[in-house]
Amino acid sequence: MAVSTKGKVDMFSPAISSSMRSHGKAARAGLVLLASLLSLGGCSDIGERPEDAWDAELDEDADGEVDDDADEPGVDVDPIAITCQPTMHVFPVADAHNIGYDAASCGTGTCQISCPDAHANSDWGGDHHGIDVFAYHRAPLVAVTDGVIRRVGVVSATSGLRVRMKDDCGWEYYYGHLDEAVVSEGQHVEAGQLIGYMGKTGTASVHLHFNVSPDGDYSHDIDPFPLLKDTSPTACGGELPPEPPPVPPAPPPAGCGTMLVDEALYANEALTSCDGRFNLVMQGDGNLVLYQGSNALWHTQTHGQPGHVAVMQGDGNFVVYTPSQQPLWHAGTHGHPGAYLRLQDDGNLVIYDGATPLWWTKG
Ligand SMILES: [Zn+2]
Repeated sequence: MAVSTKGKVDMFSPAISSSMRSHGKAARAGLVLLASLLSLGGCSDIGERPEDAWDAELDEDADGEVDDDADEPGVDVDPIAITCQPTMHVFPVADAHNIGYDAASCGTGTCQISCPDAHANSDWGGDHHGIDVFAYHRAPLVAVTDGVIRRVGVVSATSGLRVRMKDDCGWEYYYGHLDEAVVSEGQHVEAGQLIGYMGKTGTASVHLHFNVSPDGDYSHDIDPFPLLKDTSPTACGGELPPEPPPVPPAPPPAGCGTMLVDEALYANEALTSCDGRFNLVMQGDGNLVLYQGSNALWHTQTHGQPGHVAVMQGDGNFVVYTPSQQPLWHAGTHGHPGAYLRLQDDGNLVIYDGATPLWWTKG
């Protein structure tokens, strides 16, 4: 297919404003949604690139990759086959690089490369099924995740030497224009493992053409820009951005039914469940009793002396003390600072550490 450079740039414009191309199949609705979520990183401006590079890519997409699909009749599979999001953990080029053709830094035909990428932009969309990553000739290319090598070889004059690998969830990662591949079909690879070297086979400029698709169909690709951006720090041995901290447990409920740290029940005081049906009473006789109405459900058997106090301690233990501060009974839940006591609407008296019950009276 012959398309001018101008036409290529024009075609990009509407595609860039859209986060995901529609495949026009209802069966892919879920996939489209997933892909949309994955491509929220958006795209930035696309500059003009040397005409020879554009034309080579267009030929590759129009001719070479259709052939690539045609050699596997089963590629147009149900997207249900995808069991999770792409598991890309490592940047595909293990050295300084530039994601996408950046007009400002690639003006002379050689892109300014860095770790992580300082000039990243997306050249995905329209007829360009994938993003080009620029580095130097024979820059090391590595597996982006654990997976299996699906294809190695030259599909067409314009695809050059390409490698396809598949992760455990069914996503495929396509590496194009290699100078050399060092893996073979069926081989298991681990994230970061060398699979080959960057080249310019089938195209005019040294770069990696990188495509991510949910079913191995080259034209069903998603915008890999967010995946590339997120893993860019790994290209030179850097770490992935730290995982967000775990969500802290919900704070204990305040108010009815709850005794927090350092709260206490003195003689003739009671803790009442939120529905009002249950009461934990520190009786004047020193016994701590759980009542439903007038029925005693549970007690600490500490009657015999007035003036006892029940304390929810800072160490997580719930203790009944004498007026002279001798412990008479305890729940044994020390070692859990911040634990709290809750008299639930089901009548169960429970000590929780966060959301984890440590001790309870019922059942
Ligand atoms: Zn490309």
